[in-house]
Amino acid sequence: RQKKKWAATRPRISSTRLALQNFDMNYSVQFGSLWPSIRISLLSEQKYGALFNNFSDIQRMTQELECLNAVDFIWESQKVVQDLNSAAGQQASKPAVSTGTLAVPAESQAQPHPCLSTLISPNIRCYIFPKGDISLFPPARPDTLGILGYYLLDAASVLPVLALNVQPGDLVLDLCAAPGGKTLALLQTGCCRELAANDVSISRTGRLNRVLRSYIPPNICDIVRITSWDGRKWGDLEANTYDRVLVDVPCTNDRHSVMEEDNNIFKNMRKGERQMLPMLQLELLIAGILAAKPGGEVVYSTCSLSQLQNECVVERAVELLNIQYNIDVHVEDLSIFRRLFQDTFSFFPNCRLGELVVPHLTSNFGPMYFCKLRRVG
Ligand code: SAM
Repeated sequence: RQKKKWAATRPRISSTRLALQNFDMNYSVQFGSLWPSIRISLLSEQKYGALFNNFSDIQRMTQELECLNAVDFIWESQKVVQDLNSAAGQQASKPAVSTGTLAVPAESQAQPHPCLSTLISPNIRCYIFPKGDISLFPPARPDTLGILGYYLLDAASVLPVLALNVQPGDLVLDLCAAPGGKTLALLQTGCCRELAANDVSISRTGRLNRVLRSYIPPNICDIVRITSWDGRKWGDLEANTYDRVLVDVPCTNDRHSVMEEDNNIFKNMRKGERQMLPMLQLELLIAGILAAKPGGEVVYSTCSLSQLQNECVVERAVELLNIQYNIDVHVEDLSIFRRLFQDTFSFFPNCRLGELVVPHLTSNFGPMYFCKLRRVG
């Protein structure tokens, strides 16, 4: 008679399942009654945006995208600025009023916003399908010079680049740049005097290079310096150098983690790496701030919902820079972004620092956390 065999180890659970279990445990506490809605959206088809390539045939591309009924959500937000201006005009003679949960800074109530380009990086266009429309963009085709007309990405990932408010002549560092969606967006501004695009992974910087060559003419590619260094060392390599720094860190990549087994950070063998993420993120943010000039601006971003990887990292970085380097860092108010883009994205209303786009079935973008810091001294 054959003996029954018993499994010596616990049955193996898939990485996506483990990610979902982990999120259920943590995010049900963090988001309370909002979590079921965010959860179902995370597990549903994601929406994309088409980052318009200003270096391609602009007329043809605009026509093609408008024929699809897609709209540039950044252009659309201009109307909100006009509304804010007329409200400010009416309020100029009144004292500033508290708006309760709508965290509009007092100055933005009373002072007119001359135009969008003083608030956000200019010249970036990103087309999306309207709320509830789940059409897909066809793959971009090359124009007569071989340049592709748009780059598909989560439209919320343009927000950190907009928040960086790049100005003409700026020296810009993109510390964790590959595969290059945000680098492309930075180049669309036409403002970078030089752009250092770095990523520790050599294979991924290879991909970044190929992306840039498919979208950017050679003379513009010349202002980009691609490197594969450990971003944590940047503070020693090039301190006090950049006007603007983007720190788009590796994270639990929540949407990917619940949907794809491939390259999933919840794989058993990546447990150590996962646990060390907040430390890596903190070191990268500190290096990014050290690389900025005094007065320079830094945007920290992740595509995770986790407070531990978002606000907690920002808080700790501000604290450590003050204690260890005697550097003051100011966390900027980005609540204006919530007003500008509330028709496009679903924002979590209770972020202590920065802003968080949460997935929603009618606008299934994100997660995307972004927080802006200004190096004071
Ligand atoms: N910004 C990119 C974009 O928009 O396409 C996405 C960046 S992805 C969220 C994070 C990147 O950080 C990965 O490409 C990873 O290789 C890189 N990375 C991880 N550790 C790093 C380090 N120590 N220094 C620099 N880059 C690092």
